[in-house]
Amino acid sequence: MAFTKKTVRDIDVDGKRVLMRVDFNVPLKDGVVTDDTRVRAAIPTIKYLKEHNAKIILMSHLGRPKGDGPEPELSLKPAADKLAELTGYEVKFVDDTYGEKAKAAVDALEPGDILVLENVRFDKREKKNDPEIAKILASYGDIFVLDAFGTAHRAQGSVVGPAQYLPAVAGFLLEKEVDTLTGIFAEPERPFVAIVGGSKVSSKIGVLDHLIDSADTLIIGGGMAYTFFLAKGYTVGTSLQEPDWVERAGEMLKKAEDKGVKILLPVDNVVTDHFGEDAVGEVVDSDKIPEDRMGMDIGPKTEKLYADAIAEAKTIFWNGPMGVFEMDQFAHGTQAVAEAVAANEGCTSIIGGGDSVAAVNKFNLADKMSWISTGGGASMELVEGKALPGVEALNDAE
Ligand code: ADP
Ligand code: MG
Repeated sequence: MAFTKKTVRDIDVDGKRVLMRVDFNVPLKDGVVTDDTRVRAAIPTIKYLKEHNAKIILMSHLGRPKGDGPEPELSLKPAADKLAELTGYEVKFVDDTYGEKAKAAVDALEPGDILVLENVRFDKREKKNDPEIAKILASYGDIFVLDAFGTAHRAQGSVVGPAQYLPAVAGFLLEKEVDTLTGIFAEPERPFVAIVGGSKVSSKIGVLDHLIDSADTLIIGGGMAYTFFLAKGYTVGTSLQEPDWVERAGEMLKKAEDKGVKILLPVDNVVTDHFGEDAVGEVVDSDKIPEDRMGMDIGPKTEKLYADAIAEAKTIFWNGPMGVFEMDQFAHGTQAVAEAVAANEGCTSIIGGGDSVAAVNKFNLADKMSWISTGGGASMELVEGKALPGVEALNDAE
């Protein structure tokens, strides 16, 4: 599926006030940005707008303010400073979002200027998509650009509001994310191998369901594997399990079989006697999990099985770690899968989901992947086959 909305390329921005919603929801420590991935991801569109003489007004949320006014530790100033540092551009910042001060700062802009507004969520009406918020924000711009992929699944004031009043187009990040994450369902190069892990079947049911419609092979790992084991009649000891989802897991296995989709489940597991940093692992086959043990990671035979399937792939989508990778002794399976994906240089590899991306970064393999999604929730909704409200609100391409 090609991207069906207008982008900044389709509209004349010269000398115009361009109000752009970005995702500068970055982690901060002592007022300093500790991971600038999201700021970097917004730069291509900002650069394009600057080179095309737009007056650029950037807005974002950061963290979870109460919404009753400014909270200095959640100011966007550090993100604005980071943008200046990364681009070498002068970046103005105003400690106001909806008031006279913000308006005056916007009015003072010259073509090519960049202004960052204060955290849109310092006013609780933003999250509620209050029409007043949309009107105020829209009054700052001649054109609205949405490039905040990470919040495009939220129908909030700064995400969908201005599109009601202004020509509304996508930025490059949004376009690329949507194109990539919907492309795997449209015409993936085959074989298409999907890898799904993480903790629960219940939180990934939409993802699993939709991937079975498209993938040739579905690899399952992580805590959710144990609910699938129950569906196959294995016992799982004290492993993470969702009894209410066993039937659904069984239906999914059946659906895959009917469609000729190959499902790979762990054949061995690293188990332990309690969940904790000091827990020690031992390897057992999947049909022999002792009743007092819990599965924490995939085992070595499984790593090999999965790596072999991954090596054959032309398209890979991966969401969810294979084990409790936050503890080093249970990170091996996730690392092995990450390395197998990285080693398959001829394929398109797409990684989505907060913890999966964190795992890939932890193993320093990010630059070996074709695309690492910047949106957790938004990427999952796309992979579930849902439309994103922020994208829906944009103008259709001609
Ligand atoms: P993502 O953020 O990539 O979508 P999830 O949030 O679904 O991934 O799952 C990540 C979490 O799953 C991690 O915190 C990890 O510790 C946990 N997890 C993985 N395997 C297991 C397991 N065997 N038992 C319990 N938790 C697990
Ligand atoms: Mg997660």
